[in-house]
Amino acid sequence: MNQLLITADRVITGPGGQTVENGAVLIDSGVIRAVGTANELESFASAKIERLRCPGATVVPGLIDCHVHLAFDAGPDPVRAVAEADPDNLLAAMAERAGQMLAAGVTTVRDLGDLDALTVTLREAVEAGKAAGPTILAATAPLTVSGGHCWFLGGEVTTDDEIRERIAHNATAGADLIKVMASGGALTPGGPRMWESQFTLEQLRLVVKEAARHGLGVAAHAHGTDAIADCVRAGVRTLEHCSWRTAEGVVYDPQITRRMVEGDVAVCRCVSGDWRLFLQQMGPERAEAMIGAIRDMRAAGVRFIAGTDAGVPGARFGDFVGMLEFFASLGFSNAEVIDMATTNAAHALGLSDTGRLAPGLRADLIAVDGDPLTDLSALRRVRHVFTSAGCRPLSQRGPRSHPEQ
Ligand SMILES: [Zn+2]
Repeated sequence: MNQLLITADRVITGPGGQTVENGAVLIDSGVIRAVGTANELESFASAKIERLRCPGATVVPGLIDCHVHLAFDAGPDPVRAVAEADPDNLLAAMAERAGQMLAAGVTTVRDLGDLDALTVTLREAVEAGKAAGPTILAATAPLTVSGGHCWFLGGEVTTDDEIRERIAHNATAGADLIKVMASGGALTPGGPRMWESQFTLEQLRLVVKEAARHGLGVAAHAHGTDAIADCVRAGVRTLEHCSWRTAEGVVYDPQITRRMVEGDVAVCRCVSGDWRLFLQQMGPERAEAMIGAIRDMRAAGVRFIAGTDAGVPGARFGDFVGMLEFFASLGFSNAEVIDMATTNAAHALGLSDTGRLAPGLRADLIAVDGDPLTDLSALRRVRHVFTSAGCRPLSQRGPRSHPEQ
């Protein structure tokens, strides 16, 4: 028996800011057993159960970062850093980054591109309790064209057979999903431009079909308006970036957005914590066009999910809240922003056992100082992190009775 009764000023249990004031969560061996008011839970919890009282705090479902690259170092040249690292050192660095994310309250990450399926090795180490980290969903090597975006991760494909082989290879290596680079990107010198499509609609359909044959969904990196349209038609599960780029600037298409909403395709509009600098570098006109497209998608009912692209230049591990604050700055309510990082993210990633606080779900939860529904920066003040992996709390500060991990 490894039970713990956590009480706090409030517990955010589900979407839309559903809250229990003076709430409590009873966890047992990594699983949530009960959620309710402190009075209710105290009334049936045995006196022998360990208590963790968090006055002044809010308990929130563990945060989910839907777009990270644990193999990248967030430095100026992650490509070179990956190419030059030896696998053991790289794996150790990835474990350290995973630990940073966990300490920031991120209890699930989806890694969207690594080398040699090292993320699967790390995922297994976390599952076995050998490393402290979030639950990891791994895409392993993303599919790309010859010399295309992130070709150096090993996922180059040209023919239909190569597409089938790469997907089978990733599935065998333990991938939880398939990532496809549907358009060019910023990280790859000499590759296609960001708005240029890398694959045809038929090829993208083949990717989705083959992935499904292995029981896997598809996340598509798509900056270009054409690539976005093709990905939606092909039936990918999530669109990464979705920045509506063309050679002439941002061109937003409300028809495609309608299909996204109808098909329940989620958008992971990655932004790093340094978004203010990013907007500045873009210049007012481009920044406004980019922001306008996000507002239009929101008005159309698109399901947004939270992702930092941590690991690419300037996107630091452990600065998850900076990204959330970008959406708040656009007028998203705090409850909406928290949903992006919890319930919506879990839904889009196909996870039914996290993202909310309810009996039977994984005990992925955090306690933060203050109330993030009125002050988003409360999420920066993480007091405790719990994950389902053996229910090991990671204490940032404050009184602790559990062993440090
Ligand atoms: Zn990425």
